[in-house]
This record gives sequence, structure tokens and C-alpha cells, in this order.
Amino acid sequence: MTRAGETITGEPLLGQLSAGQRRATARLAAAFRRQDASLYLVGGAVRDLLLGRAVPDLDFTTAAPPTAIRAAASAAGATAIYSANERFATVGLELEGERIEITTFRGEPGGGLHADLAGRDFTCNAMAVVVAGASDEEPGTLLDPFDGQGDLLRRTIRGVPEPGARIADDPLRALRAVRFAADLDAVIEPETRAAIIAGCAGLARISRERIGAELTRLLLVANVATALQGLERLGLIEPILPEIVPLVRFNAEGSKDLWTHTRLVVAATPPRPVVRWAALLHDVAKPQTYSIQAGEVHFFGHEGAGARIARGLLSRLKLERETVEAVRVLIELHGRPSQYGPDWTDGAVRRLMLDTGPWRDDLLDLARADVTSARPQVRRRARERIDGLAAHCARLLAEQELAKLQSPLDGNALMALFERPPGPWIRPLKEHLRALVIDGELSPDDLAGATVEARRWMEEHEGEG
Ligand code: ATP
Ligand code: MG
Repeated sequence: MTRAGETITGEPLLGQLSAGQRRATARLAAAFRRQDASLYLVGGAVRDLLLGRAVPDLDFTTAAPPTAIRAAASAAGATAIYSANERFATVGLELEGERIEITTFRGEPGGGLHADLAGRDFTCNAMAVVVAGASDEEPGTLLDPFDGQGDLLRRTIRGVPEPGARIADDPLRALRAVRFAADLDAVIEPETRAAIIAGCAGLARISRERIGAELTRLLLVANVATALQGLERLGLIEPILPEIVPLVRFNAEGSKDLWTHTRLVVAATPPRPVVRWAALLHDVAKPQTYSIQAGEVHFFGHEGAGARIARGLLSRLKLERETVEAVRVLIELHGRPSQYGPDWTDGAVRRLMLDTGPWRDDLLDLARADVTSARPQVRRRARERIDGLAAHCARLLAEQELAKLQSPLDGNALMALFERPPGPWIRPLKEHLRALVIDGELSPDDLAGATVEARRWMEEHEGEG
């Protein structure tokens, strides 16, 4: 199962890790070798290295049990050693500033690395690189028993050890297959695909939390429109997102294709969970609010109704409360920025800012993405309105910041300091101190500095006025 430890491009694999990751890997290799224990880099990191992509975090596997992993990790200088996953005996740690997880071989007892890899989901995720291996295993060598590298080159997602055999063991793999296919610009191999279609009912028994987390990851891939289409084509929308089925199937006179529009909007938003979820669900209530009046199509109240559906859906999938609330607010308000006009008063803009809370940038991003009209003129006008709102918000914020810039000593403090009654002497002194704050020469809370400066200024201006 051994192959030359090189990438598709011929570069040594481990050499492509970041400097911190290389240092961490070298330290772990030495520590595990001193304990006569093996260590392999596995999973997504190996896949990303072969693709020449940056590796976000490192996963290792070893024959050593968790107690020995902890000992080796601490000998290597790791901090924050914790138990990441009791079920799989995973030890999490930080080393050289890198997030690392090390897991004792999974799979049948005594099965070694091969059994561990055979229990993984797809061939492209079932490869390892030797870090500290047996005597016949050269460090840096790629171990690839299921030809994951070949499948990566052919852009194929294939289940292990047999293509379709294991989807039923863990139906969440269906969602993962769709995510990886979109992310790697790959095709799901036919048997694997058939197993996904046959097994999608099994998703009902997967914990909603795992589904929610996996969907969030799916929403963040670059080819998210393809990923969403993949979910639909494999029949995965119904079991996991029944609330959006009416939107996906919607086909009414006078209305655009909502599902195509939705996918365009999601893809046009920046890859952040809140705004991507909001984009996916922003028109979810359009089918139920559709009406035609005097020959015109309307979706009265779809924002509020959609916000309620989204809150129910995301709570069911156990997303963080803050995310649920953010998405609810964004959907409720998603139509407002494109209604902005020169007639909006400061008060109106302030009210919208208050309603939007900390998610103002998300709302602007969502509104910009929601402009998908085929007519350039319509697109340009909508963008101008949203940019106008953004500029108006920015001006109000700048004014608010400026208003905060005051002299550290107010009139009362100055009267007390100089033991003088109120009078016209106060104003120029206060203005002087405020000017220093505005110029950044005096901090707004520097009372001592302001006192020294006030005394100096009074001396200098004594006898004036
Ligand atoms: P990403 O780059 O998105 O993190 P990943 O491949 O690292 O992708 P993880 O969820 O971090 O995915 O899982 C790490 C590894 O664990 C995978 O590469 C795969 O080998 C294995 N794995 C994860 N989930 C499953 C699963 N449901 N069934 C089997 N193996 C899995
Ligand atoms: Mg990972």
C-alpha cells in the first residue's frame, strides 16, 4: 500500500505544510518515536496537501492508546491537551500555535492503520502520510490503500472499502459526499450515488445537530450553488430541509424560478454561516404568500413569515442561538436596503440600524446578493440604493464617533479645578482640550493629562479676556 511520498506535482508532501505545522509535526514525530509509537497524518489534511491547498488543521492517527498519546504530546511541548472525543479516543492539543487532534486507530481491534482507513468515508479521505512509522515505512510516504489519489485526479468521490457499502452505516456521509463533490469539483461515483439515493431515508435517524453542522459546512464551500443542486438531485432536501421543499418545487405563473434565484443569492454572499443560511432561507415563505392582484404578482408578508420558518428550522437543527437570531433578523429585514432612497431621514436609517443590531454588514451583503435581475438597469439601480444606505449608515456612525470626542474635563470639573464661578472663561479652555482629543494628542479619559494641560493653558492665557 506504499507509494512515493510526493504530490501530484512531485513536491514532498509534508514540506507543503505551513512552517508552524512542520515544526509541530517534527516535534510530535520525535516524541512518538522515543516512545516507539507510530504516527500518521490522515484524512482531510492529506487530501488538501495532495491538492496543493492550505491545510486548516492537522489530524493524526496512531497505534498508541490515549494515555500514551497524552504523554507523547506533553513531551513534545503541547499545551491545552484535552479529550476531544471520548468515543473515538481522540486527544486534542495545541502545539506551535496549531490545532491538532490525535486519535488511536479506529476500526476492528488489531486491524492497525489499514482498518482505520477502511472505516473512513471516501477514498480521498482514507489516505495517510507516515510521520513516525514502522521500520519499513519511510517518513513522508503516502499510504493509499484505496487509490484515493487516483480518485482525486479523476475527480471522483467513492465510498470505502466498496463504493456503496457504507453509506447506510452513517447516512450523514450522503451530505458529506455532496459537499466534497462540489468542493473538489468532482462527480460522485455511480454505486456510491445509488447508495445515497437508496439510503436517504436513513438521515431521519441522524442527530439533528450533526445534520445542522454538516449543512453549515456545505453552505461554506466555494461551489455552493452546485452543492445545493446536488442535495436536490439526490433527494436529500426532503429528509433534512422539508421546509424548503415548496420553494424548490415552486412553479407559478408570473414568478421567477425561486430555487434558481435562491442558489444564485447564496453563491453571491460571502462565505460566512449567518449570511449564507439567511440567503438560503430568505424567500422560504414566498410559495405560501404568492398572490396575483390586478395582474401583478405579490408575496405580501413573506419576510416575516420566512423569518418564523427559518427560526423553527434552525432551532430544530440545533444551531447556536445567536446564529438563529441573526438569520431571523436578516430574513425579516432583507427587503429593506433595496427600498432606500434620498427621502430616508437620519431617524429612519437609525431605526433600521437598531433593528439590524450587530448584523448590519450581513444585511447589506445579503441585500446586494439578492439583486439577481437579468436586466442590467434594474441591477444597477438596486445596487445604487443599497450603496446609498451603506454610505448613510457610515455617515451616522462617523458622526456618532465624533460626538463622543469630548474634553476629559467638563465645565463643572474645570470650575472645581480653578475654583472659579461659571463664565465665558470655560468655553475656550474646553474647546482647546477637545481639539487635543480630536487630534489624538490627549486621550478622552486622561484626567491627569487634561488637568496638567488645563493649568498650562490657563497660565498662558491669564489676563486675556
Ligand atoms: P474538512 O476539510 O471539511 O475538515 P475533513 O475530511 O477533514 O474535511 P472532518 O469532518 O474534519 O473532514 O473529518 C476528518 C476525517 O475523518 C475525514 O477526512 C474522514 O477520513 C473521517 N470522517 C469524518 N466523518 C466521517 C464519517 N461520517 N464517516 C467516516 N469517516 C469520517
Ligand atoms: Mg477536518
